[in-house]
Amino acid sequence: MIIAFTPSADETKLLASAVAELIRPGDLVLLAGDLGAGKTAFTQGFGAALGIIEPITSPTFTLVNQYQGRLELFHLDVYRLDAVDEVLDIGLNEMLDEGGVTVIEWGDTVIPALPADYLQVSLRMGEGDDDRMFEIELVGPRWSARTRALSTALAPWLGEAHEMPRVRER
Ligand code: ADP
Ligand code: MG
Repeated sequence: MIIAFTPSADETKLLASAVAELIRPGDLVLLAGDLGAGKTAFTQGFGAALGIIEPITSPTFTLVNQYQGRLELFHLDVYRLDAVDEVLDIGLNEMLDEGGVTVIEWGDTVIPALPADYLQVSLRMGEGDDDRMFEIELVGPRWSARTRALSTALAPWLGEAHEMPRVRER
């Protein structure tokens, strides 16, 4: 688990672009966190780093948006799905096989339908309005091999916990 902090949406986009530098064809990234946490903002920075020029918008109603950059990006939002299997019905496995990159907002809710290798990025609100905390888990061999590279890439956002004081125990 890697813990990181950002103080603004722009910094979240930069963090996401650092993640995108390590991405490989066929990778899967899950984004978890409440509405407004910054899942779409993350995807915007991520997509820009993949060379996507088109504006990246929330796929809340379309379920999946597709973009062409250096790699193809499939951007899903599964908030509205009623059943886990629906993510397969909308063609997840085909997307992964295309050799692009798949990013799923609310992806933590459909883990039983997913392959065993993915990066899970969980966003939480922090102390200030624009503070966010990231818990990043590298799941499966495909990702665990990149643990050190990812920690290095995210160095600018690690260990800034002083900006978000911990709740003190009584
Ligand atoms: P989600 O997709 O998780 O519902 P969005 O990315 O659509 O969230 O919205 C996040 C909102 O929070 C945006 O208005 C963004 O500008 C704002 N924001 C403020 N600080 C941050 C931050 N540190 N990281 C990401 N978004 C932030
Ligand atoms: Mg969103």
